[in-house]
Amino acid sequence: MATTVSPTSSAKISDRLRRIEPSLTLTIVAEGAKLKAQGHDLVDFGAGEPHFSTPRHIKDAAIEAINKDFTKYTNVAGIPPLREAIVKRHATDFGSDYTAGECTVSTGGKLALFEAIQVVVDHGDEVIVPVPYWVSFKDIVQYAAGTPVYVECNEKSNFKLTPEMVERAITPRTRAMIINTPNNPSGAVLAEDEFRQIAQIAFDRGIYLICDECYVYFNYAHAPFSAGGFTQFKDRTIVIGSFSKTYSMTGWRMGYSLAPQAVATEIQKLQSQATSSSAAMVQKAALAAVTGPQDCVGEFKAEYMKLREIAVKGLREIPGITCTKPDGAFYVYPNVTRYFGKAGIKSAADISKRLLHEAHVVTVPGEGFGTEEHIRLSYAVKEEDLRRGLQRMKDWFAQLA
Ligand code: PLP
Repeated sequence: MATTVSPTSSAKISDRLRRIEPSLTLTIVAEGAKLKAQGHDLVDFGAGEPHFSTPRHIKDAAIEAINKDFTKYTNVAGIPPLREAIVKRHATDFGSDYTAGECTVSTGGKLALFEAIQVVVDHGDEVIVPVPYWVSFKDIVQYAAGTPVYVECNEKSNFKLTPEMVERAITPRTRAMIINTPNNPSGAVLAEDEFRQIAQIAFDRGIYLICDECYVYFNYAHAPFSAGGFTQFKDRTIVIGSFSKTYSMTGWRMGYSLAPQAVATEIQKLQSQATSSSAAMVQKAALAAVTGPQDCVGEFKAEYMKLREIAVKGLREIPGITCTKPDGAFYVYPNVTRYFGKAGIKSAADISKRLLHEAHVVTVPGEGFGTEEHIRLSYAVKEEDLRRGLQRMKDWFAQLA
């Protein structure tokens, strides 16, 4: 194994690890937690984490599982009833036709994505990544020794990716593309027809379409749909799903992939050498989530739509800040370049840092998502916190002007 020696320590670190960086969002969450521990009253727009409690029936299912000693290893790909329930829910909601064997339950959507990319991307392969992108796409591709090929989405068109943009980015080395709709951080949403055209391009060129549908149920512009519903392209489609946002289960670490059998088998092989499986009682909680009442999802969505209005209005009231209205997920991605050059500010990272330390508002700078002009705010917070944080931002930007 190739190793390099860090100039500052004697630790030998593999080249693979040198290709990646720590997750910026998780680093910022940790910095915010440190300030909170010191007693500062922070308003936290940093973490992409629903503020709702996990619904009662889901928690009860985990407690019952523990009390019934459902605490042992399970099948690598997940307990059969859960895999069957996931594919059934997906088929009901989106018209997909996966078998339970094509579903791999994983410890969070992030692991599902990590595994899928390790399975299909080889050294030197190109992977199309629309910008702005979720922080981990780039690093996961690089860990697999792939090369991210960035496609800049235009802010003036609400960060929308088009089939033409995808077409232009394809080369003979393109192995996969990662599409995240609704998008973190921009909130952009693809229309079903455009997405189908992109899936068609991927299929025709023999490219994997890796579809991160972590926010699939939080689509405010269209009825939710999934690339998994384009069954004619199934051989080249990999769906990444997550329970984190849909059911407010971030800390439970529960996600899944849906992939053609040949790919799913390899994902399961990789998982068998990594985590073995997700935690047994969490799988029971997930089973309750997908088979139980779905009202919570609609309630979360209605609340996010209300919070979105407040967030966009509040940010647009700050002179010089422009903010596209997101069509999905629970983030706003305002452009803050008008403040560059004021009071020593050079970048979005400077703004986020100073907002944290001077206004006690946590945001994430756009640099982590591939753009230098923006900061990201998660509005999955209580309304009073959203209003309080926006007021702090307004006051802070006002003293710079
Ligand atoms: N994909 C996107 C776009 C996300 O925003 C996140 C979490 O923020 C994930 C995947 C990972 O979700 P999970 O908590 O299921 O690992």
